Amino acid sequence: MKWPGQTNVKRDGLASSRSASPLFSARKSLGQHFLRNAGLARRVAAAAGNLSGMNVIEIGPGPGALTASLLETPLASLTAIEIDPRAAPALDALRLRHPARFRLVMADAREVALPALVPPPRHVVANLPYNVATPLLIAWLAEAGAFAGLTLMFQAEVAERITARPESPAYGRLSVLAQWTSEVAIVLRLPPAAFLPRPKVASAVVAFVPHSEQPPPSRFAAMQRLTAAAFGQRRKMLRQGLKSLGGGALLEAAGIASDRRAETLSIAEFDRLASLLPG
Ligand code: SAM
Repeated sequence: MKWPGQTNVKRDGLASSRSASPLFSARKSLGQHFLRNAGLARRVAAAAGNLSGMNVIEIGPGPGALTASLLETPLASLTAIEIDPRAAPALDALRLRHPARFRLVMADAREVALPALVPPPRHVVANLPYNVATPLLIAWLAEAGAFAGLTLMFQAEVAERITARPESPAYGRLSVLAQWTSEVAIVLRLPPAAFLPRPKVASAVVAFVPHSEQPPPSRFAAMQRLTAAAFGQRRKMLRQGLKSLGGGALLEAAGIASDRRAETLSIAEFDRLASLLPG
């Protein structure tokens, strides 16, 4: 698909709206909004903190602006996963320049088990395609202990939900799953003008540092069921929202008043409830 003010991508891997020989144009269906220049890409790479010795995994390198900036850091290796075959030629120069440190995997990131790709310490860095960002994040949070850190760019509204605290309107399922497994903070905000083509909304980079203790997979699945039910009816009292999971009896066992609403519960209270559900 061609966008108004179409993005052209030059062979040096940096987006330019003036290139005479584009390698590929941005596809909306793949969530392609490319960082406009190397300076912006360096700011995103810097938001990941010290990558020295890390095996970094980048999702969606596209034409490679962020990839090139990551390769300027002292990371041990960079494995990039990209679904669009048109990106491969654009990344050739980086592959030739860094044969021992850079590897491109052509695949759908939703089908790749990241921990199997590289040994620890692993750090995921990505300007995520907005259309698959949330399912990717939830899958990684389910095995957060596999990562030393994740530095991920989302639409700003999604970043706000991830980092929202109880009693705020943005507090919901994503806030609980993220903060239950990791320390989270917004570390960089970028306006629509930072990208080509220009998205309608602003973006923000969230840094995740997984907690040293992680829930087992069965508890993570229970927390997904719990938060889906609780926030599915966020305006109702919890005894109604959680009816299918035990309602009042479950809340009483956890020592939580049954007339409270989901958005008032702390992460510790959600943890208590999840621990009472069958795995
Ligand atoms: N990293 C580049 C940048 O920051 O300029 C491009 C980021 S763009 C927002 C998202 C990238 O993810 C695109 O290159 C797109 O082709 C790729 N992508 C989309 N869906 C994907 C998927 N399921 N698996 C792997 N890559 C995907």
